Amino acid sequence: VFDVLVIGGGPAGAASSIYAARKGIRTGVLAERFGGQVLDTLAIENFISVKETEGPKFAAALEEHVKAYDVDIMNLQRAVKLIPGKIAEVHTASGAVLKAKTVILSTGARWREINVPGEKEYRNHGVAYCPHCDGPLFKGKRVAVVGGGNSGVEAAIDLAGVVQHVTLIEYGTELRADAVLQRKLRSLPNVQIIMSAQTTEINGDGQKVTSLSYTDRSSGAAHKIDLEGVFVQIGLVPNTEWLKGTIALSRFGEIEIDARGQTSVPGVFAAGDCTTVPFKQIVIAVGAGATAALSAFDHLIRSGDE
Ligand code: FAD
Repeated sequence: VFDVLVIGGGPAGAASSIYAARKGIRTGVLAERFGGQVLDTLAIENFISVKETEGPKFAAALEEHVKAYDVDIMNLQRAVKLIPGKIAEVHTASGAVLKAKTVILSTGARWREINVPGEKEYRNHGVAYCPHCDGPLFKGKRVAVVGGGNSGVEAAIDLAGVVQHVTLIEYGTELRADAVLQRKLRSLPNVQIIMSAQTTEINGDGQKVTSLSYTDRSSGAAHKIDLEGVFVQIGLVPNTEWLKGTIALSRFGEIEIDARGQTSVPGVFAAGDCTTVPFKQIVIAVGAGATAALSAFDHLIRSGDE
């Protein structure tokens, strides 16, 4: 029986594992893909104290740091079911059943993709998902933001201060972002908004993105915009489908937590992009992972299990 079983091996899960193991308690981490989203990242320039690094390098460093402790790492294993209880059970896709006194959920999230030709091919070569992360890479260049909800409009405002020109592309007939954001967006001189536009392809020269094609949904006409970058902002999906009905989730599927990382189920904590934390960043996930581990330890002491 684990004292702390961490589900997810991204920045949040790695931090939870290290903080738990440092308390000298029996710690395990189960991960479908150790490293998480940073494995898909090229440059990381905002992890404080590391001026710049690359995603795979950062992921390797996470794993190396966890391995320096007595942590049972179960990689390439997917959790499919959580049964809460004084001793909780976690079932894996391979049929194993793990038991733990406390569980930390840190299964992260994934960006919703537009699924058009060129999106996958040019990921990290002009196709980006995170304006805080990749915005500065497009300084002085032309970009499009696909998606006119709050995240798309926020991204367009953010990027307009960094890049030369932003085209915001919305599929529907109106933007879905809050009015105050829309007002701010419309006040910016280097932003163009295109409504009723369906992105059909992201084009490139084999190395990097050169343009974006879309169809005007009202006239059916095809258009092409020359640019260097495309930010896809049509939603972040938390990896929590397997927890529906077991713990409280927000309407976006995020695990609801309090300031201590406590979920709706005693003894079950959560951290990082899979939770209701308002900003999804590595440095934030790492801090949340530490918080959840300290809360789990606190729970063990108070329940007389440690
Ligand atoms: P994740 O990194 O998503 O890790 C989740 C972990 O859980 C993975 O190990 C996954 O395999 C595992 N998992 C999921 N479901 C299950 C399951 N059912 N069973 C077992 N394991 C499971 N942030 C920055 O701060 N700076 C950047 O420059 C930056 N660039 C980015 C670029 C890209 C392309 C992307 C996609 C994201 C970027 N981010 C960046 C965001 C950052 O990667 C995330 O905020 C961070 O990784 C969140 O950490 P996490 O541990 O919560 O989740």
